[in-house]
Amino acid sequence: MELAKKIEILAESAKYDVSCSSSGVTDNTRNGTVGSTSAAGICHSFTSDGRCVSLLKLLFTNACIFDCHYCINRKSNTIPRATFTPQEVADLTMDFYMRNYIEGLFLSSAIIKNVDYTSELLIKTLKILRYEKGFKGYIHVKAIPGADEKLIEELGYLADRMSINVELPSRESLKLLAPDKEPFALYKPMKQITQKKHELAQVPALRKQASFVPAGQSTQMIIGASPESDHAIVKIAETLYQKYELKRVYYSAYIPVNQDSLLPAITTDPPLLREHRLYQADWLLRFYRFSADEILSEDKPNFNLYLDPKANWAVQHYEQFPIDVQTASYDQLLRIPGIGPKSALNILKARKYYQLHLSDLKKLGVVIKRAQYFVSCNGARQAGLIHDPEWVIASLISSRQYETLKQVNSQSRQEQLTLFDVERFETTKRKEARYAN
Ligand code: SF4
Repeated sequence: MELAKKIEILAESAKYDVSCSSSGVTDNTRNGTVGSTSAAGICHSFTSDGRCVSLLKLLFTNACIFDCHYCINRKSNTIPRATFTPQEVADLTMDFYMRNYIEGLFLSSAIIKNVDYTSELLIKTLKILRYEKGFKGYIHVKAIPGADEKLIEELGYLADRMSINVELPSRESLKLLAPDKEPFALYKPMKQITQKKHELAQVPALRKQASFVPAGQSTQMIIGASPESDHAIVKIAETLYQKYELKRVYYSAYIPVNQDSLLPAITTDPPLLREHRLYQADWLLRFYRFSADEILSEDKPNFNLYLDPKANWAVQHYEQFPIDVQTASYDQLLRIPGIGPKSALNILKARKYYQLHLSDLKKLGVVIKRAQYFVSCNGARQAGLIHDPEWVIASLISSRQYETLKQVNSQSRQEQLTLFDVERFETTKRKEARYAN
């Protein structure tokens, strides 16, 4: 098969993997114009120091021996199949790299023959790149769960980042929808990578000799293919961050690609707003020192579609506000909507030298429009505001957000329609207008 044909087939099959931050999509409406895109893909990822890098995203093969219900590449699907050779992937990567199109490679694979054989092919590819071609660029590779430990280790020395996809948020769903996968096998390589990194960190000489998964590991969860609540998903992400020190958990709104009685109907829209809320909640776990049980609970297991999770937490705990910025701890400042880690640090530094006034907060990076309902400065609050949680909710939702919500809502024929309580929103907005007059 011609290389161009393989690229076309495998780029199409790879686009559902979101373990790097953006994926190539085809935009036929603008074909031939500046900005038109192709599915054969360059995607973006972030290195451990926060830099954004462009990666050539390839699937090594889509000839899978497994039959995961949610996957386009499952063996029972009749789709064109293709497999690269290690040399082809290495040559392609170098070609793109030398032309300055990419800074690295994102290599994933379906399971060909068996897990060890697939891992050996990936290792061979990376060895050609690293040793024969001297490629020092960034490589993100998908580890194959269930592969021999020695192979996982070898791959770890060749790649910058490794990811092992959890795929579904519970063992029950995995059993049902990915019957060939052994749930325990998914977590074993994560544990192995974490332990190995710890071992190496304790011996400085070893650390210098060879770097092992220097950019850490990540994972991906598919959202909306199985019935787990948002709370259950956030809890799993929290455990993964704590237990395996993952750099990122990616959430991928399920795109129905297969007609299957165990899955949402093929006409179901991907739950994009839910995915967005999960990323916001993930941010709270990683940078705002929230726990999963604070963001959501078993009583309220799903996200508020009107408000981001931090604002939602704040209005649910309105009795804890206002927080006085002159005396609050760093952790307390982080809880205030409109204050992020950087502005919280700015506040701590500035207040050492002078008494803060509300008018100072904007200069320190605080988003006043959001923070004004939750802060005080030396006991003083923003004049003229009504401090009632209902009122605050209505004020925090802008007309633009309202329009977006309406649009997302109308796109979703499933759960979001019932959760988006337009009537209640309209009532609150009317109340707001009455107060304003
Ligand atoms: S193992 Fe499952 S999810 Fe992965 S490519 Fe094969 S069928 Fe798809």
